Amino acid sequence: MSDVLKILRLISRQSKAYDVPSVTLVSYGGDPYQVLVSCLLSLRTRDKTTIEASRRLFKVAKTPEDMLKLSLGMIRRLIYPVGFYRNKGKVILEASRRIVDEYSGKVPSGLDELLDFRGVGRKTANLVLGLGFRKPAICVDTHVHRISNRLGWVRTHSPENTEIALRKIIPRRYWIKLNTLLVAFGQNLCLPLSPLCSECPVYSLCKRTGVIKYR
Ligand code: SF4
Repeated sequence: MSDVLKILRLISRQSKAYDVPSVTLVSYGGDPYQVLVSCLLSLRTRDKTTIEASRRLFKVAKTPEDMLKLSLGMIRRLIYPVGFYRNKGKVILEASRRIVDEYSGKVPSGLDELLDFRGVGRKTANLVLGLGFRKPAICVDTHVHRISNRLGWVRTHSPENTEIALRKIIPRRYWIKLNTLLVAFGQNLCLPLSPLCSECPVYSLCKRTGVIKYR
C-alpha cells in the first residue's frame, strides 16, 4: 500500500473522533443550494457559528425562491454573527436571484458556471461540486493546503496549485471526502500554529515540512 493511502486511512480513522465540519453536515441534506449558501457563510467564520447561522436561515428559506422572499435586512439578521454578514447577505440574495432567473431554480453543476457567481472561488465551487453534486472534485481550503504541504504530498504556494498536484496523487475515491477529513484533522490535531505531532497517528509517515514548533 502506498504511503499516501496509508496516511489517508489513518487520518480517516482519527477524524471519526472529531466533529463533522459545518458544510459537510449541511451536505447530508443532499441539497446543492444549501451547500452553496452554507459554504458562502463559512468563509472567515468559525464552524459552530456557520452551522448555527445555516440552520436559522434554512428554517425560514430552504430554496432560492424562498430566499428571494426575504429582505436583505432579514437575511442579515438571520446569519449574524458570521463574518462579513452584511456583504454575505447581499451575495446570497444575488446568487439566489441568478439561480432562479438563469438556471430555473437549480444550482448549476459546472465549475465555470459556479465560478461566475460573485463570492464563489475555487474552494466554494469544488465543495459544491463534491458535497452538493457528488462529482469528483478536490476542495483545497487553508487546512488542506497546509497539511498537504506538511505531509510532503505537495510543495506548493497556492491552494490552486495544491489542487492540481493533489489530483495526481490522491486516489479518486478520496477526492470528495479529502476536505472533510483534513478540515477536521486540521482543526483538532494538525493545528495551524503548533501541531500536536507527538499525538499524531501519521507521525512516522509525515515529513513535517515547514513545521518549526510542535507539541
Ligand atoms: S505529524 Fe505533525 S505536521 Fe505531520 S500531519 Fe501529524 S500533526 Fe501534522
